Amino acid sequence: MPEGHVIHRLARDLIQQFQGTSPTVTSPQGRFSAEAALVNHQPFIGAEAFGKHLFLYFDGPQPERIIWIHLGLIGTLAFEPPSTTRGQIRLSIATNTLAANLRGPQWCRLIDETQMQRAVAKLGADPLRSDAEFAPIAAKVRKSTRSIGSLLMDQKLFAGVGNIYRAETLFRLGISPTTAGNQLDDAQLQAIWDDLVTLMQDGVHAGRIDTVREEHTPAAMGRAPRKDDHGGEVYTYRRHGQPCYICGTPIATRSLEGRNLFWCPTCQQE
Ligand SMILES: [Zn+2]
Repeated sequence: MPEGHVIHRLARDLIQQFQGTSPTVTSPQGRFSAEAALVNHQPFIGAEAFGKHLFLYFDGPQPERIIWIHLGLIGTLAFEPPSTTRGQIRLSIATNTLAANLRGPQWCRLIDETQMQRAVAKLGADPLRSDAEFAPIAAKVRKSTRSIGSLLMDQKLFAGVGNIYRAETLFRLGISPTTAGNQLDDAQLQAIWDDLVTLMQDGVHAGRIDTVREEHTPAAMGRAPRKDDHGGEVYTYRRHGQPCYICGTPIATRSLEGRNLFWCPTCQQE
């Protein structure tokens, strides 16, 4: 599943490509045709990400003129030539020169401002948003008996954080993913938040997730770059069985709430 940095990049790119235009909005696949018709050729006035949720804003006469997208596990939003017809395109936003095509989303809905506010109110703090307030989230985490590995994946607490950032931030701070929220102190919680902000901002700029510090890059360590479909230089994510870059212990993995957790049993002791 794309993590929050991907959604924020999409919002930024949509603004760059479509702001100031009144694009053609269609549903070539047909499942979003009635909704698309309501914003077709209306001015595109912006896009915004909250965690893994993407909102596209149109001007127009009717109250329902916000498109709400969640990509889910397999959804994609790709910038392509406007003539592209490949695959099941749920939503296409197109000018004469470019189309943004949405395929396979978990959902794509047309909503009004009230519905949007309700959706956003259910989300936690997004490390990529300058208006994020971490203090109320920290207070909830401090009271929880759930593991920090579980809490970090809860979108009602940490909006936009996914499996990779969870694993990498905990490694970088030497915190075991099994540590309960109420066993962490304020300084550790603040460090988690600050590290997420740094790593995820890097992800937005680079378009991939790199989490290793300068001394652990392939060049610094004299090792081959990592080869992985999920890209990027990381400490633990999908590196199970391979030696930890700091202590040499094989990286461990196990399933937690249906997602694979990765950590170093030596560097991250409870
Ligand atoms: Zn280690």
